[in-house]
Amino acid sequence: MPDLRDDVRDLFGAITGRDLDGLWSAPGRVNLIGEHTDYNAGLVLPFAIDRRTVVAAGARDDALIRVASTFSDQAVEIPLAELDDVRGRAGWADYPLGVAWALGRSGADLAAVPGVDLVIDSNVPVGAGLSSSAAIESAVALALDDLWRLGLSRPDLARVGQLAENEFVGAPTGIMDQTASLLGRADAAVFLDCRSLETESIPLGFAAAGLTLLVLDTGVAHAHATGGYRERRASCEAGAAALGVATLRDLTIDDLPRARAELDDVTFRRVRHVVTENQRVLDVVRALREDGPAAIGALLDASHASMRDDFEISVPELDLAVETALENGAIGARMTGGGFGGAAIALTPVDAVSRIQVAIDGAFAEHGFAAPEVFPVRPSDGAARDS
Ligand code: ADP
Ligand code: MG
Repeated sequence: MPDLRDDVRDLFGAITGRDLDGLWSAPGRVNLIGEHTDYNAGLVLPFAIDRRTVVAAGARDDALIRVASTFSDQAVEIPLAELDDVRGRAGWADYPLGVAWALGRSGADLAAVPGVDLVIDSNVPVGAGLSSSAAIESAVALALDDLWRLGLSRPDLARVGQLAENEFVGAPTGIMDQTASLLGRADAAVFLDCRSLETESIPLGFAAAGLTLLVLDTGVAHAHATGGYRERRASCEAGAAALGVATLRDLTIDDLPRARAELDDVTFRRVRHVVTENQRVLDVVRALREDGPAAIGALLDASHASMRDDFEISVPELDLAVETALENGAIGARMTGGGFGGAAIALTPVDAVSRIQVAIDGAFAEHGFAAPEVFPVRPSDGAARDS
C-alpha cells in the first residue's frame, strides 16, 4: 500500500506537472455468502479486502475531467458538460467518468464544479470476482465528493457507483460491491439488506479463531458472464412474476413446494437457489454471532452446491478448487462473485494454508488447467481519504 500511494503520487506529478490535492482509496471485496441475491432485493454478506484502488486527485482551473491509470496508456480528457457523449464508449475510463456523470445525476451541478485530474493505481486483481470495478468507482466517488464538497453519505455514494456501472458502463449489477467497498470495517462483514438498503457490521473474528480466508482465483476470465448474468436475472424476474410476487425476496423456503408445482424445472431451480441462499445468509449471520466463524463451513459448502446445481453458474475450475480445498483441510468453500469463472473462497485453518496451496496447484496441473492464484485476504476497512 505505501508503494501504491507513492507510485500514484509520482505519476500524478509526471502527468499534470503539479501537486495533488489529496489521495483517496477504496478496497475490492469478497462476498462471504449471498450470491445473485442482490438484484432480487435479497441479503448479502460481503467484506472489504486488503487490496485497494488509489486515486490521486487535483482540481483544475477549467471544466475538464482528465483520467489516467497505470492499467492503461490511454488518458482520457473531456469537458464535464460533455460526459453524456462518451457514455459507454470510453473503455476503462467509463468507470471514473461514469462516476462524475452519476454525481451529476445525483445533485452535483457539473456546470459549477471545477474540472479535475484523476490518476489511478490499484492492486485489486481485475476480473477475478473481487470487484476492481467497485473499488475504482468508490475511490473516485469519495474523491469527487470531497473535492467538489458535495457532502453525500456513503450509502449515497454506493448508489452513485451503481448508477455509473449500470447506466454509463452498461453493466446490470446490484449495489453490493459498492456498499462493501464504502462501508467495510476491519475484521467485519457488511450485512446488507438489498430491499431496505439497511446495513449492519457483523464481526468475523477469523484471525482470533485461527482461520484465514483464501481466495482461489482460477484465472478463468468471466468474459462470457454478461450473457449468463442477464439470463439468470431474467429467470429470477420470470419466476417472481409467475408466482405473483414483486421480487424473489418475498418468498421463503415454505413457498418452494408451490414454486415447484407452478414453474418449469429450470426456473424453479433458479428460484430455489435465491430463496435458499437468502436463508443461508441469515444462518451465517446467526452462526457468526452465536458460535463464531468455525461454525459457518457447512453453509458455505451448501451455497456452492446450490450455485453449481441449481443456478448453474460454476465452471469445472471453480468446482475443482472448492473440492481440493475441502479435501485438504478447509472448513468451508464456495465460488464467489457472479460466476462463469473468477474466484472461489475457502475458509481455512491457518496451518492448512500451504497444504491447500500446493494441492490446488497440483490438481489444476493434473487437469490441464492454467495455474491458479491462491492468496489470503483480510477483512479490511472501506474507502478512505489517505492524505
Ligand atoms: P471485476 O469488478 O470483477 O474486477 P469488472 O469487469 O466488473 O471486473 O471490472 C473490471 C474493469 O474495471 C476493468 O476491465 C477496467 O475497465 C476497470 N478497472 C478496474 N480497476 C481499474 C484500474 N485500476 N484502472 C483502470 N481501470 C480499471
Ligand atoms: Mg465488477
